[in-house]
Amino acid sequence: MVVINKMDIKVPLAVKKMSKDERKKYDAQEKYCKENSIPFFTRMGKCYSCNKSIFGENIGLIKASTKLITGCPNCGHSFCE
Ligand SMILES: [Zn+2]
Repeated sequence: MVVINKMDIKVPLAVKKMSKDERKKYDAQEKYCKENSIPFFTRMGKCYSCNKSIFGENIGLIKASTKLITGCPNCGHSFCE
């Protein structure tokens, strides 16, 4: 029997692989969405269009904590359509 950790279900693999800096921005965006009751479009952590991290160097911590990220900062792919 395989024991599944609850955290494994909640946190996508791409998010677990993030660097500390990326994770900080990811968490800031999640907090921002929760506080404003808006959907967390970037929950998966990486773009399924270009496969790059959404919270990489193209997103700053300030933007991640004050603005809703609805598209990929690398290729411009929209997550809310
Ligand atoms: Zn992309």
